[in-house]
Amino acid sequence: MLKIENLHASIDDKEILRGINLEVKPGEVHAIMGPNGSGKSTLSSVIAGNEDFEVTDGKISFLEEDIAELAPEERAHKGIFLSFQYPVEIPGVSVTNFMKTAINESRRAQGLEDMPANEMLKKIREKSELLEIDRKFLSRSLNQGFSGGEKKRNEIFQMAMLEPKLAILDETDSGLDIDALRIVSDGVNRLKSKDNAVVVITHYQRLLEYIVPDYVHVLLNGRIVKSGGKELALELEEKGYDWIKQEVAV
Ligand code: ADP
Ligand code: MG
Ligand code: MG
Repeated sequence: MLKIENLHASIDDKEILRGINLEVKPGEVHAIMGPNGSGKSTLSSVIAGNEDFEVTDGKISFLEEDIAELAPEERAHKGIFLSFQYPVEIPGVSVTNFMKTAINESRRAQGLEDMPANEMLKKIREKSELLEIDRKFLSRSLNQGFSGGEKKRNEIFQMAMLEPKLAILDETDSGLDIDALRIVSDGVNRLKSKDNAVVVITHYQRLLEYIVPDYVHVLLNGRIVKSGGKELALELEEKGYDWIKQEVAV
């Protein structure tokens, strides 16, 4: 589904990603871990097409297509979803209305007609039931006064509605309390299937107790220096990153 080969990316002539190789297949859950500043968020931004970063070498393909030249919206329409770390507040626009607009904008961009209202309602009902989201929440103003957990609930609801093929969840170490953690992990576990894939980016291991990854990769200094199964996350939790730094230096 996603294939990254020898990816190099810079910002302001500073090289941040220095030769990333990663392959994600349908049905897989990958975790990317690494110390602060190692390039995790940069990697997710570059996959999503953030134009602040310049890709200087390598290749990113999605569903066998080179996506290097595609704008972020085009990548989203192809089925790449990136969670938002800094959600915007929109007073007077409800969670549901924002979602309806987003879905129809995406459809128009793909040359499709708006989703018929009854179909939209059915889908909203289906997905909110799946995620146990109540009606009151759906009519609240987008992100206004949302707790950390509610922001995550909204994000997961958007993911459910958009049905991405590849979801990239970049979770900062701060701000995920136990409530938010459960919402994210429950949501991901309910939404994952044999046809979609999830890349969870996290600084710490706790999230991976709930979202169990098939593969764990350690990002250090812009390179994936070690990959393994879920046990690698436990090892990192126990021993930190220093032993890997030493291994790599040898
Ligand atoms: P992580 O998510 O692993 O903490 P980041 O991808 O956020 O790491 O950052 C990797 C490196 O790139 C850091 O040294 C950071 O300072 C730098 N960096 C990230 N974004 C920018 C930016 N917009 N401008 C300048 N430097 C940046
Ligand atoms: Mg960081
Ligand atoms: Mg980050």
